[in-house]
Amino acid sequence: MIDQPQPQAFNFLRPALDQLVAYSSQPEELDTSIDKLDANESAYDLPTELKEKLAWQYQELISSNRYPDSSHGELKSAIAQYINQSGITPANISVGNGSDEIIRSLFIATCVGTNASILTADPTFSMYKIIAQTLGVTPISVPREETHFTIKRGQADQAIAQAEASGHPVKMLFVVHPNSPTGNPLSNAEIDWLKQLPEEILIVIDEAYFEFSGHSLVNELPNYPNWIILRTFSKAFRLAAHRVGYCIAHPEVISALEKVRLPYNVPTFSQAAAIMALQNRSQLLAKIPEIQNERDKLYNILQAEPRIKVWESASNFLYFRLRGESLAEINQKQKELVKTLKQKGTLLRHTANGIRLTIGTPAENERTQKNLLAYLHQDLISEH
Ligand SMILES: *Cc1c(COP(=O)(O)O)cnc(C)c1O
Repeated sequence: MIDQPQPQAFNFLRPALDQLVAYSSQPEELDTSIDKLDANESAYDLPTELKEKLAWQYQELISSNRYPDSSHGELKSAIAQYINQSGITPANISVGNGSDEIIRSLFIATCVGTNASILTADPTFSMYKIIAQTLGVTPISVPREETHFTIKRGQADQAIAQAEASGHPVKMLFVVHPNSPTGNPLSNAEIDWLKQLPEEILIVIDEAYFEFSGHSLVNELPNYPNWIILRTFSKAFRLAAHRVGYCIAHPEVISALEKVRLPYNVPTFSQAAAIMALQNRSQLLAKIPEIQNERDKLYNILQAEPRIKVWESASNFLYFRLRGESLAEINQKQKELVKTLKQKGTLLRHTANGIRLTIGTPAENERTQKNLLAYLHQDLISEH
């Protein structure tokens, strides 16, 4: 529009942001006729009677002109009761606008304004690295071995030592239990490794999928004051729309998080939704055995496909790869697969040189299986 070159324009923005791309959902993700199996959400909305109760609360109890409860008092008590671990009280809990917000608060509380770095083991949840970059914190990553996607712990130890030596000490290590996108829980050897890491490092254990795996490290928290556990209402509790996450840690860490978070970070309606979800948890979590069964059924079907390598999962999704000669060829084929399935109405996530498939309703899984097998077999025919 303007002809003149503007080399100085907008130079108030940090140059580091040029490297980043804004996170945005694709339009088809809002198309309700599509099987949306790319974001690990629950396939099930809140039951109508719970939505009605929530609507009643909005009508009768919530004053839209008043700020939310900034202490999250009632919600923290309900969470402490759900965690049901002796010694865990509301003083061990902080609540965020999704666990994404808590991750960002953790960076502010540990790294921002210092030379610190953070460590991840890839592939893993991408948000840790993205948030690090937006805040000018150096993300360091080490690989996982690809048989079971356990962390290459020797390399991690080296990376920690190197970072320390170069003046960028690692202040946080992020692990996901079970990991996304690969579905594996922490092994006993990995847990033992976490236990002997220096206590100068905050060990962040993201249990976003805890309700599917049934295994938590919360009972270890009293022994390891440098550990923090993240949880969310976005997955098994079906509240992704409401943006509520929480963390469990030593009161000292919690009080640091409470200092750096925004005062009214969780809307009143979202707090009410999370409290209602916890009060009705036996009803909401009753779907989990079905999801686990569906996952294992689909795993067996994919495992029988010679053109696919699929990994076991302790979560509500599966991770698989097409077989091929080179990574470039595999990724090209996977791109094609994701595109073709999207045209058939199944949305998958192509990530970390593989495909992540969220377990949906039995009907959705049936269609996924049909579309996936049709694609694999048709492609096989056309190649010969
Ligand atoms: C989905 C997910 C979250 C949840 O994020 P929210 O901000 O609470 O919706 C956190 N960590 C991991 C690894 C996830 O997959």
